[in-house]
Amino acid sequence: MPGFEYAPAPESRDVVDVRGSYGLYVGGEFVDGGAGSLKTVNPATEEVLAEVAVASADDVDRAVRAARKAYEKTWSRLPGAERAKYLFRIARIVQERARELAVLETLDNGKPIKESRDVDVPLVAAHFFYHAGWADKLEWAGLPGRAPGATPRPHGVVGQVIPWNFPLLMLAWKVAPALATGNTVVLKPAETTPLTALLFAEICEQAGLPPGVVNIVTGAGETGAALVRHPGVDKIAFTGSTDVGRQIAKTLAGTRVKATLELGGKAANIVFDDAALDQAVEGIVNGIFFNQGHVCCAGSRLLVQESVAEEVVTRLQRRLTTLRVGDPMDKNTDVGAVNSRAQLERITELADSGDAEGAHRWTAPCELPDQGFWFAPTVFTDVAPAHRIAREEIFGPVLSVMTFRTPDEALTKANTTPYGLSAGIWTEKGSRILWMADRLRAGVVWANTFNRFDPTSPFGGYKESGYGREGGRHGLAAYVKEA
Ligand code: NAD
Repeated sequence: MPGFEYAPAPESRDVVDVRGSYGLYVGGEFVDGGAGSLKTVNPATEEVLAEVAVASADDVDRAVRAARKAYEKTWSRLPGAERAKYLFRIARIVQERARELAVLETLDNGKPIKESRDVDVPLVAAHFFYHAGWADKLEWAGLPGRAPGATPRPHGVVGQVIPWNFPLLMLAWKVAPALATGNTVVLKPAETTPLTALLFAEICEQAGLPPGVVNIVTGAGETGAALVRHPGVDKIAFTGSTDVGRQIAKTLAGTRVKATLELGGKAANIVFDDAALDQAVEGIVNGIFFNQGHVCCAGSRLLVQESVAEEVVTRLQRRLTTLRVGDPMDKNTDVGAVNSRAQLERITELADSGDAEGAHRWTAPCELPDQGFWFAPTVFTDVAPAHRIAREEIFGPVLSVMTFRTPDEALTKANTTPYGLSAGIWTEKGSRILWMADRLRAGVVWANTFNRFDPTSPFGGYKESGYGREGGRHGLAAYVKEA
């Protein structure tokens, strides 16, 4: 019997003015880059959206100098209450321009408009509001290094490098606490998603932020590396892959520069037989198919108790047949485009290794567009812990299902990973939640929910997922001197 079809509900792209080309934002001005330019494309259509300048090492140097000047002349001299005003202003402008930001994010990244509109951009505003609130109360935040009542001291100039999966949100996680604590910033967005960071530069201008307090240098890995090794930077905050995080840690080892590294993950989402199964299925779907699975804390390993495994997989597959995959600008779309051709190739290669190693692949029935980068929601069963799809971060809409019999076995399997960013537990027993949460080596543990983010709550990992926390008072601590 034919089902009801959704009518198309496209968001209009007219709300955003995408310019043909963009420069770097240095010292409060848009300037040319000395290392050519790169093209940023809409991953859903492969249309070139804009040419974006690539910052050379000299450009990075200019940006660091601009940040230093702003730090010394203005920003470090402002009382917290004054800094707070700018952050509140930025937060309010983000809210006012929310639709424009959401559309631009979706065009540049490929994520569904309903996610950029309802998750990314509201959280961006929330991060600025939250940190604005702290700016004049840092004395009482219990931060390291100073006695209560003494003002904590910022590092100075902070270099920040971010990935492409939540471009504007990762910017907010980094810029808001840095400014609240009195640092100035040079930020490098990812090469495939620079546009919302450049729109953010306009928002800084609109908020009247003094020139040089926030500088945006676009480019790829070389630009990031030039920022990391610049001697004028006092602290590095990096979010991205474990491989690059390792290189950064090596570069900074033995220097005075402080670093926080937010890296990859391979989280276990653990479903016990007493869980509310329909609710758990929603959590599994959210855990791995939200943002096309381009989520560092994605619940990419489903551990399900053997007695309910068949039931859970059946319900999950039924639910996945209702997911709408396609045009990210359509308000009914649940799963959008993969961010880049390179990422699509990585996902495809890892999924193929699942077939080759003997796991069983199930793909949600959906029609993928001809143009653009797409990967249908995929579930692997018969997965062994030694399979690559059980060990390596796929960073795409691919779930690996394994089973367990006892809580001990669930725990052992969950912790058998070089990563330790997040985990999920689904059970009706509070005592079991606490027992598991105590023993899971993961920075964030969700119980009967998944992928909940809040600026008040610290986020970060153990082991190869990196070190340092973002969000909450722990996140502020990373931006002040320890002594
Ligand atoms: P990536 O490490 O390739 O790139 C991240 C950023 O680093 C980009 O801006 C890139 O240009 C820059 N970069 C690349 N090489 C560099 C170098 N040598 N020196 C300095 N900068 C360099 O990662 P990606 O593919 O963009 O992002 C995906 C990864 O990010 C995943 O592994 C994911 O788990 C991780 N991630 C982690 C978190 C977290 O909070 N833990 C959040 C989002 C993404």
